[in-house]
Amino acid sequence: MDLFGEQTEQEMQPVSCGKQCSVLVPYPVDKAYSYLIPDNMLLSEGDFVTVPLGNREVTGLVWHAAPEKVPTGKLKTVLSAHDFPPLSKVHLTFIEWVARYNMAPLGMALKMVLSVRDALEPPNPVAAYTVKECGPDRDKLSPQRSKVLKLLADNVPRRAAEIARLAGCSAAVVKGLYDKGFLDKVDLYQTPPCAAPSIEGHELDLSVHQNIAAETLKKSVAGDCYKTILLDGVTGSGKTETYFEAVSEAIKKGKQAVILLPEIALSNAFLDRFKERFGCAPALWHSSLTKEQRRTVWRAVAKGESKVVVGARSALFLPYADLGLIIVDEEHDPAYKQEEGTIYNARDMAIVRAHLGKFPVVLVSATPSLETIDNAWQNRYEHLHLPSRFGGASLPDIHVVDMRKDKPPRQHFISPTLKDAVEAALAAGEQSLLFLNRRGYAPLTLCRTCGHRLECPRCTAWLIEHRQTERLHCHHCGYAMPLPEKCPSCEDDESFAACGPGVERIKEEIEEYFPEARTIIFASDTASTHEELKQILDDIREKKIDIIVGTQIIAKGHHFPNLTCVGVVDADLGLSGGDLRATERCYQLLHQVAGRAGRAAQKGHVYLQSFNPDNRVIQALASGERDMFLEAESFEREQAHMPPYSRLVAVIVAGPDEDQVMDVARALGRVAPQGEKIHTLGPAQAAIYRIRGRFRQRLLIQADKEINVQKAVQSWLECIKVPSNVRVYIDIDPQSFL
Ligand code: ADP
Ligand code: ZN
Repeated sequence: MDLFGEQTEQEMQPVSCGKQCSVLVPYPVDKAYSYLIPDNMLLSEGDFVTVPLGNREVTGLVWHAAPEKVPTGKLKTVLSAHDFPPLSKVHLTFIEWVARYNMAPLGMALKMVLSVRDALEPPNPVAAYTVKECGPDRDKLSPQRSKVLKLLADNVPRRAAEIARLAGCSAAVVKGLYDKGFLDKVDLYQTPPCAAPSIEGHELDLSVHQNIAAETLKKSVAGDCYKTILLDGVTGSGKTETYFEAVSEAIKKGKQAVILLPEIALSNAFLDRFKERFGCAPALWHSSLTKEQRRTVWRAVAKGESKVVVGARSALFLPYADLGLIIVDEEHDPAYKQEEGTIYNARDMAIVRAHLGKFPVVLVSATPSLETIDNAWQNRYEHLHLPSRFGGASLPDIHVVDMRKDKPPRQHFISPTLKDAVEAALAAGEQSLLFLNRRGYAPLTLCRTCGHRLECPRCTAWLIEHRQTERLHCHHCGYAMPLPEKCPSCEDDESFAACGPGVERIKEEIEEYFPEARTIIFASDTASTHEELKQILDDIREKKIDIIVGTQIIAKGHHFPNLTCVGVVDADLGLSGGDLRATERCYQLLHQVAGRAGRAAQKGHVYLQSFNPDNRVIQALASGERDMFLEAESFEREQAHMPPYSRLVAVIVAGPDEDQVMDVARALGRVAPQGEKIHTLGPAQAAIYRIRGRFRQRLLIQADKEINVQKAVQSWLECIKVPSNVRVYIDIDPQSFL
C-alpha cells in the first residue's frame, strides 16, 4: 500500500537547508519515509513529529536522524515537532525487533506504541467547582442546592458530574449555583497515577521460601543485567507478595516496573493488595479504560512519572521512560498471545524487551508452559520455587468421579457425589464453584424431528443457545438470532432440543437441587462491563454468593478464602481437538481451577467428573505429580518434533471468495519450503473453515530450531502474487490451530 501519494510541483516546499530525517508512521508500511527538516527545527531519533502523509497530517516518530539522502525536490517537510520526551533508543530497537520477529510491517509495530489518539497533545483541564468564600446569602436555598454546598464544604474541587452523583442531584443544580455566584470554577488536571509509591513500611513478613526467592529477585533487579527468572510456586504460595519485593527494588532504584496480567486477573482484589503494599494504586492499562484515562497513563509513563504499571498484554508497548523490571504473571496463559491485528506473544516479547533494556523479567506460574519449563531445565532461565501454600494452608484433595459409575439422572450433568459435596459445603456455610468452559445454555441445538442443526450463516460453527438473552449466538463472529419457532429444514413446530450442557444449564440444575442457594454465572458475557465483573468478584469475596457456575475466567488468579468445593463438570472437555497443546492447556486450566479451593483455613475438595478417568491429565492432577506430567508431555513433543523442540509458523490464507483462497493456498503450497530441516504441511481447510463469511486455508511450517524461519517465510511469500481481496496472515509460534 502506498500511502505516500504523488506530489505535484506546486506542493513542493522551498527549503534552503538540505537536512533530512526519516519518519516512521503508524500505518501498515514497512519503512520509514524521508522528510526535510525545517531550518529552525532540531530533531533527534525517537522524537515525535507531525508530518504530511498523502493528504493527511499524521503523528510519527523520527526513525533515523540522518538517513541516506533522497533528492530534495521529491520531499515533503516535517510540519512540527512535539514538545515531548523522545522514545528511547531501546524502544526503537524493540519496535524493529517486534516487527521483524512477527513479520509485521514496521509501522504496525509503532502503532502498538502509539496506541492512544492525541496522546501527545497536552491534556485539557476539566472544569471543577469549589465553594466561593463569601458567596451570596444562603437563606432561601433549595434542599438540593444546600446539599451541594455542604458536600463542597471540604474545599475539594470536583467536576459537575461528580458533584451531581455524590449529592444525588442533576448537573443543572451545580450550574445554577455557579450562575448565582455561590461557586468558583477552577481548572483540574489529572494527576499521574502511581507517582510516588511507598516502598517501606507496608511489607509483609515473608516465609522462608518467599524470602529466598525475593532476595534473588531483588539482587537481579539491582544487577542491571538481563535475566529471565521463572517464579514457580503452587497456587496460594504467595508468588504475588514475593514479586512485589522485586517491584519495590525497582522503584528504589528509580526505575519503572510493569506487571502483566491476563486481563481478568486485573481484579479489585489484586489492586487492593497492590495498594496495601505500595500505598497507592498502580497505573492501570487495559481495554476498558476511557480515552482520557489512557492518555493520562500513556503520558505519565512516557515522562517517567508513573512508576508501576499493571496491565494486560498491550501494556508492554507503553513508552516507558526508564523500564527496569517486567513481571509476567500467569505466564502460561493463552491470553498473552494476541491473535488479531499484529499477531504476537506478549510473554515472548517481554523477554526481548528485557534483553534489550538489560534488566530482569520474571515469569510467574503454578503451571509453567512447556516452553518455559524446558528453558528452566536447560538452565537458560533461573528457576525459583515456592513449594507450599502460604500460612500452612494445605493443597486441596482431588477426587476423581467416574461418570460411567456415578451417573447423574437423565438430562442432568452433576453426579450424586458432586451434588453431595456442594450440599455439604452449603451446610457448612462455604462456597462452591462449578466449572464448565462453555458459555450459554447448550453447545448444540438440533431439531428432534429431522436432526437439523442450527449453524451460523457466516461461520463454520454451531449457534449456541443463550437463555439469558433468549437468542442463539455465534461465539466466533457475534451473530445472534432468536430461536426459530419452526425448524428451518422440516418446518416442524417447537422441535428444537438442547444437546449437552453450558453454564446456564448447569445453573438451572443447581437451582433445581438447591433453590435456596445464591447461585450466579460467571462468564465473560454475563456482565457487560469490566466494572460489573469486578463487582461480582467482590460479592463472592464478601460471601454474598454461595455457588458460582463459571467458565475459565473465574479460574484465573482469584483468591476466595471461603471457597472450599470445586467441581469440574466435564474434565474431559478440551482433551480432544487437534491442538498440540490440548493436554497441556487442559492440565493448566484444571490445575488452576482446582487451585481456587481451600486457600485459607478450611480444607479444599476438588471433584473431577470424567468418562475417561485413566487419562494422563486426570491422573497427574489426582496424584499431584506435575513434573512427571510435564516430562511425559515433553517426551512426546520431542518425539513428534514439535515445539519447544522445533519451530512452527502458521500461514493462513483468507478471503470471501472460496476458489480464489484455494488458488492462493495451492500456489503457496507448490513453492513452499520442503527439505530436511524445514518442511510445510498443507494447505488444508482450517478447523473453522469460514469465519465472518471469509474462507480460510492453513499451511503449517515445521522447522529445526536453528532455522531462521522468518527469512524462509519471507522469501517464500515473495514468490506469490496475492490478489487484493485475499489476505495472507503469518502467525509465528502459533498457539491457536483453529
Ligand atoms: P499465589 O499468587 O502464589 O497464588 P498469593 O500471592 O495470592 O498466592 O497468596 C495467597 C494468600 O496468602 C494471599 O491472601 C496473600 O495475601 C497471602 N500471603 C502471601 N504471602 C504472605 C505473607 N508473607 N504474609 C501474609 N500473607 C501472605
Ligand atoms: Zn459466526
